[in-house]
Amino acid sequence: MATAIGESEWEVAVPEKPLKDKVYFENLKAKVIDTNLCSRCLTCAAICPGGITVVENKVDFPDYENQCLDCGACVRVCPRFVYEPKSGLGDYIDFIAGRSKRFAGQDGAMVTELIVSAIEMGMIDRGLFAGRDDKWATEMFHVRDPEQLAITSLGGTKYTFADVLPALKEAVRFTKRGVGVVGTPCIVSGVRKLQQEFPIFREKVKLVVGLFCTENFHYSDISKFLQEKGVDFSKLIKTDITKGKFIATMSDGEKVKFKVKEVEEIVASGCNVCTDFTAVESDASVGSVGSEKGFSTVIVREGNVREIISYIKEKGYADFGDAKPEELDYLINLKKGREKNIKRD
Ligand SMILES: Cc1cc2nc3c(=O)[nH]c(=O)nc-3n(C[C@H](O)[C@H](O)[C@H](O)COP(=O)(O)OP(=O)(O)OC[C@H]3O[C@@H](n4cnc5c(N)ncnc54)[C@H](O)[C@@H]3O)c2cc1C
Repeated sequence: MATAIGESEWEVAVPEKPLKDKVYFENLKAKVIDTNLCSRCLTCAAICPGGITVVENKVDFPDYENQCLDCGACVRVCPRFVYEPKSGLGDYIDFIAGRSKRFAGQDGAMVTELIVSAIEMGMIDRGLFAGRDDKWATEMFHVRDPEQLAITSLGGTKYTFADVLPALKEAVRFTKRGVGVVGTPCIVSGVRKLQQEFPIFREKVKLVVGLFCTENFHYSDISKFLQEKGVDFSKLIKTDITKGKFIATMSDGEKVKFKVKEVEEIVASGCNVCTDFTAVESDASVGSVGSEKGFSTVIVREGNVREIISYIKEKGYADFGDAKPEELDYLINLKKGREKNIKRD
C-alpha cells in the first residue's frame, strides 16, 4: 500500500496494517514480537523516531500509546514483518579459507582482516565491531584505525546480542567514505531492509560482512548459565561452540566444556524460526565450519569483497587455502528445518 505522508506528494510503501485501528508499533508487536518471530536485530529501534528499545530481553516501546508517531518506519524495516525466510549457501563467486597474518581472532581473523583492509584501501573510513566489557556484555566500537585493534576483545565471538544496527545509524551520520558492518544473518537482513527503505544506508554502507550463525543468546541468560557452570568472567578469554560443545577458555588455559544441548532452553526465541545459517544477503559471509582449525571460511559474494581479497593477496596479509562447502550442509539443513516453527496468520 502506498501511504501519503502529510500534505506532500512524497509517497512511501508501508506494509498494510493487519490491525487497522492500531498504531504501527502495535501491529509490529502483534505480528512479530508477541509471536516470538522477533530476532532482536533492533532494526526497528535503529529507525524509530520514538522509543523502541529492549525491556527484559524483548523489543518494546514502553509508552507507545502516547509516543508512537504511527509513521510506519518500524514495519518498513523489520525483516520479519513480512517474513521471507532465506536459507542455503546463497549466491557466491568464491569459496575460500583464509588466515590473517596480522591479526588474531576467533578463527582465522578474516573478518578483522577484511574490515581493516577495506579501511586501508579507502573503501570505508570505519568498521563497526562488537567488543565486550569485562563481564562479556557486548558494546559497539567504531574502528577507524587498525591501532584500535590493540583492544583485543574487539575480535572473537560473543554468544550474545550486540546493538549493531543502532550503532550503524550513528555511523552513517558521521562517515565520509562509508561504513563496514559485521553481524549475524538477522543483522545482515536488517541492514538490507534499511538500505531498501532509506537512501542514506544505500549510500553510506559500503561493506556488509555476515557471520555464520546457528543461534544466539540474551546476555542475562547466557551469563547466568556460564556462571553456574563455574566460568569466572575475569579470566574468560574465549568462547566457542564447536562439534556440539560449548567451550569457555580461561587465561590460565583452563577450559569449561559442556554439551550445547544444555543451553537449548535459553536459545533466544527468534533464533528458533531463523533458517539462514550463512547470511545469504551479505557481501561476504565468514564462519569456522568448512575450513581447517585456525582458518576462517570466507564466502565471497560481491565484487567489493573480491577487490579486498585481491588487496590482501597483493600485500601478503593472509594465507589462503581451500574450503569445503559440503561441510556446511549439516547446519544449513538444520536451520532450514526451523521453517516449520514459523507461525503464519
Ligand atoms: C552468535 C554467533 C554464532 C555463531 N555460530 C557459528 C556457527 O554455528 N558456525 C560457524 O562456523 N560460525 C559461527 N559463528 C561465526 C564464528 O564464530 C566467527 O565469528 C567467524 O568464523 C569469524 O571468525 P574470524 O576469526 O574471521 O573473526 P574475527 O576476526 O575474530 O572477528 C569477529 C567479528 O565478529 C564480530 N562479532 C562477534 N560477536 C558478535 C555478535 N554477537 N554480534 C555481532 N558481531 C559479532 C566482531 O565484532 C568481529 O568483527 C557465529 C558467530 C556468532 C556471533
